[in-house]
Amino acid sequence: MRFSLISLAAVAALATQAYALPAAPSQALFRNDRVVRIEVKDEATLKALSDNEEALNFDYFTHNKNIGGNIDIHVSADKFAQFEALKIPYTVLIPDLQAVIDAEQKDIQETGTRIQQELQVQRKKFNAAGEDLSTYAAPVWFQNYHTYAEHTAWINTQISQNPGKASAISFGNSSQGRPQAGIKIGNGPNHVVFHGTQHSREWITTMVVEYIADQLLTGSDPRVAGYLSKFTFHVVPIMNPDGFVITQTSNRMHRKNGQTNGGCVGTDTNRNWGYQWNTGGTSNNPCSDTYRGPKAFSSPEATNVANYLKALVPNVAMYIDVHSYSQLWMTPWGYTGTRPSNYNYLLGLANTAANAIKAVHGMSFRTGDIYNTIYPASGNSADFAQSIGVKVPFAVELRDKGQYGFNLPANQIIPSGEETWAGFAAVLDKL
Ligand SMILES: [Zn+2]
Repeated sequence: MRFSLISLAAVAALATQAYALPAAPSQALFRNDRVVRIEVKDEATLKALSDNEEALNFDYFTHNKNIGGNIDIHVSADKFAQFEALKIPYTVLIPDLQAVIDAEQKDIQETGTRIQQELQVQRKKFNAAGEDLSTYAAPVWFQNYHTYAEHTAWINTQISQNPGKASAISFGNSSQGRPQAGIKIGNGPNHVVFHGTQHSREWITTMVVEYIADQLLTGSDPRVAGYLSKFTFHVVPIMNPDGFVITQTSNRMHRKNGQTNGGCVGTDTNRNWGYQWNTGGTSNNPCSDTYRGPKAFSSPEATNVANYLKALVPNVAMYIDVHSYSQLWMTPWGYTGTRPSNYNYLLGLANTAANAIKAVHGMSFRTGDIYNTIYPASGNSADFAQSIGVKVPFAVELRDKGQYGFNLPANQIIPSGEETWAGFAAVLDKL
């Protein structure tokens, strides 16, 4: 296929925009804040942590609160002496969180510059020899992270470049009025709904969800044609757009949505879904990162996705809520340790995904139900999906296991996309 003028323009636009993340100066600073890993040896450790959670302002990066598991906690510099006084053994994963954020910004800027230079070379080749540039557009996008505006443009470009195959969808609007925008792909009778970025600091999830959409639209996997006649895919890269904008303008570590609750910003929408809401593993403190909201479905973001799913049931073959980090492929329930009747079926599919993932780049993903694999989390999306009859609901945690955490380097976007696509497709093959 010859490279069309429209897509050449799109590539040129990418070259000038692909590295334009907002500058950092107005952002919240995390200088000398540490991310520590605590091995949960006994109940006393958990109690000491939960007793001090509010006073010490713990920001849980991971939530594995089972005995024998590890919890990663972001402890701010001014609270660290108090944390050490608790005498809980820990190892330091990240000694200066701001340094990691600064390195991420630098990486994004440098990657953007390098892409621009490569594009100039490609464009010269194109002009000289009429070389086909079309295979270059997708890799360019997936080599770097992008602004909210760029993601919006990317979605619109995919729709306009794939008429008949892709159309625009939205779950609804966020509390601040931004659309939860996405792409509908294919025309099969069975629906597959998935989204990233319910937690806004989990930037890799935006990119990997887009990577899967790109595979469905332009990928070379011979199975795709069959998928598009069997399934209709509903793909939303950014479920929580307000939170995502906050991570790019004022606080890279913001997890929740943009609603104001008693002086603090954000409800944890993944503790706000209306099934077994407020039955464990959530916070009543509006300043906590797991604040469940004043009532079930008080957040429009969760409510909109729930309504969208309800309208498609009973024909929803699969729903996946994509998070990071920890490398997990999880099933319901989160609110109880009693496993659902279809647990063995779901676990078999999760293991299929994990095996396919491992075969690509050797990454290990653990599988199991949310409650027993990490910890009680009521009011979460996968539980709600299970409760309304979605046949296969999953909560997935992408790379890594804590080295970079939420600040996964841009050069891991494509490998992470490749392995997640492999896991996703392996499950589709069994539905
Ligand atoms: Zn998350």
